[in-house]
Amino acid sequence: MKSPAAEYWRVHTAFSRFRSLCEHPKGELNHVNAFTLLVAVVLSAQATDVGVNKATKHLFRSIDSPAKMLALGEEGLIAHIRSIGLFRNKAKNVIKLSRILVEEFDGEVPSSRAALQSLPGVGRKTANVVLNMWFHHPAQAVDTHIFRVGNRTGLVPGKNTDEVERAIEDKVPAEFQSHAHHWLILHGRYVCRARRPDCGQCIINDLCEFDNKS
Ligand code: SF4
Repeated sequence: MKSPAAEYWRVHTAFSRFRSLCEHPKGELNHVNAFTLLVAVVLSAQATDVGVNKATKHLFRSIDSPAKMLALGEEGLIAHIRSIGLFRNKAKNVIKLSRILVEEFDGEVPSSRAALQSLPGVGRKTANVVLNMWFHHPAQAVDTHIFRVGNRTGLVPGKNTDEVERAIEDKVPAEFQSHAHHWLILHGRYVCRARRPDCGQCIINDLCEFDNKS
């Protein structure tokens, strides 16, 4: 069992290295404002960022507000997002949330988690992505990559995504909180991959507790 001080330095060292590799990590979902970010995140559930970006490339050139989305309508939106999984359900949610934004929030995306999560198709993870990327709130949106990296390395472990979210909030030093989830996503997406983690090239290899390093 490591002492709290030793564990603090392990986590601190890992995130210092992530930061030295990429000081200002960014999300990979294309957007032009808070509304298009919210729509992109809703569309990205169980889909890749690359797939969503392909579908929204033309869409967001002309449709960048809840009012314009309402004018486009469900069928019009479906024509753009047909290549994305669960597109019918997602289109329904985007139209519904656009109506609520127009009628109840003056067409603006709200900046509280409770208000965001009251919108159709917006769960805690989606709300956290918007809070972090647009409102610069140190919210941690735990996806499958973060869950895997957090548990393999033992840096921010948890039995479910809520526990990993809490572990990041509790264990990662304040100076890294704003970018923590982006660093973990990038590490999971490009180095600590699900099937064949690239342990030989990993900058936190010596800090990682995974038993089956490649
Ligand atoms: S050493 Fe391997 S398992 Fe550990 S974080 Fe790096 S890539 Fe992932």
